[in-house]
Amino acid sequence: MVESPLERLGRFNAEEQALIGRAYKFARVAHASQQRLSGEPYLNHPTFVAQAIIDWGLDAATVAGALLHDVAEDTKYDLKDIGATFGEEIAFLVDGITKVGRIKYRGNQAQTETLKKMILAISADLRVVFIKLADRWHNMKTLAALPTNKQKRIALETSEIYAPLAYRLGMGYLSGELEDLSFPYLYPQEYRWLTENLKEHLEQSEKYLQQVSKIVEGRLKEMKIPILQLSARAKRLASLYKKLKRTGMNLEQIYDLVALRIIVPSVEDCYATLGLVHKLYPPLPGKIKDYIALPKPNGYRSLHTTVICEENKPTEFQIRTEGMHRENEHGQAAYWAYQTAKNTAAYAERAPIFADRKLEWINQLANWQKNLDRPDEFLSSLKIDFFQDRIFVITPKGEVIDLPSGSTPIDFAFAIHSDIGEHCVGAKVNDKLVALDHELQSGDAVEIITARSKKPSESWLEFAHTSKARTRIRSALRSYQGPTLRPKTVAFKIAAEDRIGLLKDITAVFARAKLNITATETQGKAGTKYRGLKLNVNVSSRQDADRVLLKLKKIKEIKEVSYTFRI
Ligand code: MN
Repeated sequence: MVESPLERLGRFNAEEQALIGRAYKFARVAHASQQRLSGEPYLNHPTFVAQAIIDWGLDAATVAGALLHDVAEDTKYDLKDIGATFGEEIAFLVDGITKVGRIKYRGNQAQTETLKKMILAISADLRVVFIKLADRWHNMKTLAALPTNKQKRIALETSEIYAPLAYRLGMGYLSGELEDLSFPYLYPQEYRWLTENLKEHLEQSEKYLQQVSKIVEGRLKEMKIPILQLSARAKRLASLYKKLKRTGMNLEQIYDLVALRIIVPSVEDCYATLGLVHKLYPPLPGKIKDYIALPKPNGYRSLHTTVICEENKPTEFQIRTEGMHRENEHGQAAYWAYQTAKNTAAYAERAPIFADRKLEWINQLANWQKNLDRPDEFLSSLKIDFFQDRIFVITPKGEVIDLPSGSTPIDFAFAIHSDIGEHCVGAKVNDKLVALDHELQSGDAVEIITARSKKPSESWLEFAHTSKARTRIRSALRSYQGPTLRPKTVAFKIAAEDRIGLLKDITAVFARAKLNITATETQGKAGTKYRGLKLNVNVSSRQDADRVLLKLKKIKEIKEVSYTFRI
């Protein structure tokens, strides 16, 4: 058994504990000589991340992945070493984290969308997102050690990308933490103002709530409602600041600066407690929120009410069960934990809702986007674009390039700049040299090697997929090679059931493909059942012809279509 500072490992069996121990030892060796910028041993970082994963209730593979998450990127060991020692699953998790880690947010609004999509697309497994969130949590806690310009960028990325991601995954506690940790870096003056002015208010509020707690606790006991927890809960700084901005920076007007949270055993107890609170104090109209009957889109459940309390002060109560509380704090991580705990009592209790929760995280992410309008479009792009049609790759500067799947380094090069495309001689993917027809995958870091003397070659058209690359290559070939590039003539033979407008639809296919028809010939009378059609077309490659062939086959009336090269 390897000694590690990790705590609360009790729920793992011997085999799982051994795996976690081995991962810890591997990380300790790999990071042995490294320090964090704060001066502490590097190992503290993966240890923190792994502890968060343990406390969120995730499985042993994810804990191991968390321990190893920086090994492939920052040490002499690579993904192969991890795969050989720990197997595919853990190597897959580490690979995901490494790829997500290469993305850098540069504070540009248009980029947020691509970035969010990319994180999800290359994560593929929600566990990668959990590790990434825990990683970011610790990095935010130790952000003070970084140079100022980096602090700003990372804090912005955290509040724009990762805090909303955590929120949409229902991880309320973490989302609040990430917001609060970013706040002093993004708004240093406001932060100072708030902490200076808040202190006194908070002390008063807490004293006041202790008084209220005693009264409420006494009444609950009389009513025989068991209390699991009754505590005062101060509003998070970042969300308080947002609210203050809306209310003219007046702390007196914030009713929920501190709320009283009551945790009871059952849903019935929640409503009974709400009834009792309303018997004691009149509720403010419009302030009763039943998130048990109607959970928030991210899954949050609780009863909220604001009442005219002792000393006629408006005071917020939050009432929930322990299960709701855990889910409100840990969200999707809690669901994930239940799912891995199959055959346990906790799982059996939740089993009926899992059927609905299967694709829940995808829906959650659709909701994540709802803040940013176009929800339907996002949902369809999530289902279609994302997982099938699009890939997201990264430039050496950490920028994300969005390409159709099947794209090659040539497509990437032209997507960056036509000048880079035209002078492309080679490419590196994840630091390894690849052929120009290499198929790129989401998350790949791509670097293009150029030479001024290089010119596009006709063969590139065989593996360039984006129309941007193809158009540029063709026009470059025309200008460089002039008359030496002879378009080949292809004869298309079509048999179709005629209708008005059919010929127009057919020629439109060629026009859209930017292919010139040089001759047409029709057989049979217009309007008769079957008509033959022959079209001569100039193409520059077989792929052009194939592409058009596929499009033509989609026209309903076309019964047969084929082509031959005429040389
Ligand atoms: Mn890390």
